[in-house]
Amino acid sequence: LLDKLRDKSLVVAGGFIDGKWNTVSSRGKVFRVANPATGEVLAQISDLSTHATQVAIDAAHKAQPGWAGKTAKERADLLKKLHRMMVENADDLATILTLEMGKPWAEARGEVLYGAAYIEWFAEEARRVYGDTIPGHQPDKRIMVLKQPVGVVGLITPWNFPNAMLARKLAPALAVGCTVVAKPAAETPLSALALARLMEWCGFPPGVFNVVPGTDAPAIGQELCANPKVAKISFTGSTNVGKILMRQCADDVKRMSMELGGNAPFIVFEDADLDAAVDGAMISKFRNGGQTCVCANRIYVHADVYDAFAEKLAARMKELKQGNGMEKGVDIGPLINEKAIEKVVELLDDARSGGGEIALGGKRSGDSLMFEPTLLKNADKTMRIAREEIFGPVAPLFKFTGTDEVIELANATEFGLASYFYAKDLSKVFKVAEALKYGMVGINTGLISTETAPFGGVKQSGFGREGSKYGIEDYLDIKYLCISV
Ligand code: ADP
Repeated sequence: LLDKLRDKSLVVAGGFIDGKWNTVSSRGKVFRVANPATGEVLAQISDLSTHATQVAIDAAHKAQPGWAGKTAKERADLLKKLHRMMVENADDLATILTLEMGKPWAEARGEVLYGAAYIEWFAEEARRVYGDTIPGHQPDKRIMVLKQPVGVVGLITPWNFPNAMLARKLAPALAVGCTVVAKPAAETPLSALALARLMEWCGFPPGVFNVVPGTDAPAIGQELCANPKVAKISFTGSTNVGKILMRQCADDVKRMSMELGGNAPFIVFEDADLDAAVDGAMISKFRNGGQTCVCANRIYVHADVYDAFAEKLAARMKELKQGNGMEKGVDIGPLINEKAIEKVVELLDDARSGGGEIALGGKRSGDSLMFEPTLLKNADKTMRIAREEIFGPVAPLFKFTGTDEVIELANATEFGLASYFYAKDLSKVFKVAEALKYGMVGINTGLISTETAPFGGVKQSGFGREGSKYGIEDYLDIKYLCISV
């Protein structure tokens, strides 16, 4: 790992707590981080747990009033510095990310710049946390509304975007004066620790940003949820774990933001520009090897264009080069672990037994974690693949004929994160956009994520928004002052 980096000090093997590295280890226990493309062990990281989490929370709690007491410009200046450092170190951060997570290096670099864009955005937003004045309800009353940081925030992030998922939470939190205890996924702690290293170099005060890496996620999560010094939890991950965290946060009515699972429909209407729809499907389905919560999970194609679309998509899928993300020209890396492979195999077995036809791919390569880009035709709503998040490079095609029919099919899920459709007719575009029960709708595009727009879901995909002017509200409490004059 180290020989591939310009700056080797970006790799750290312990937690970052109260401005110090490796201060608390639970009896010297360590865990391994391995490259999913090769199995090679990249690093051994101190395996922290409840005690370290408590120490980190105490540090964040102690640092919070001082951090909130700085001017917005002072906080913004540090965040801008962090943004610059992320951009300057983007190559190294991308290498660390690809090695621990597997995505192609160019995509990893894109993720780092995407993460950095949130830091820049919220550095800018820090100075625009405006309150309000409201006409009084009585002649002698004046009403003023303040927005204040919620306090210490616990961030729990997944492995699929080890840099950006953390960046887009920590940026608004720090911008408004919250302090942070972050728990990265055990598969990919190195990106979070590299970010902490950059923040150390930027000169963020000790305790403002803490990272607790560890394999005992339930113990760390439990402490973050139960500790009264933590005001809020922001989580990105599976709906099941999200529900556990909500239950754990119920006792002290903790604030929460939840970015949970998705089951994105991708609808191709009969009047769609088919080539554009294929481009969109490729990016929405195969970015990160199909391992994003906004990946197209069910591709509905109008019967009139079904065969033509399937043929064009298959042709493009055949061009995908799969392999080690560090190699040039690789479009698609490995899945994250054995469990992910098993899930994809199970979903395909189930689809096959229900009449699905594998038109392309369908198996793993040898005993590696590479799973071939797979086209599944004749998918239908009775299959598990229609209900569950695939999180792999499998594109299931469903056939439909009516607009109302496809809207109903698309909404027939407990999830409501991203959705996509391709159509030209303006009245249909608005009808479908308004009828889809999703937090995000890509219309004639397969790529919707940007720091300037509110990312988030409805239904069991969660609540709260990340990015845009809305994203900062998740880290603010409203206080109203009633003043008698
Ligand atoms: P995935 O299936 O994508 O790994 P998870 O929801 O399991 O999604 O993981 C997302 C994040 O939640 C990771 O950081 C993981 O370690 C953490 N996590 C998993 N289980 C728990 C739990 N019981 N409490 C707190 N965090 C958890």
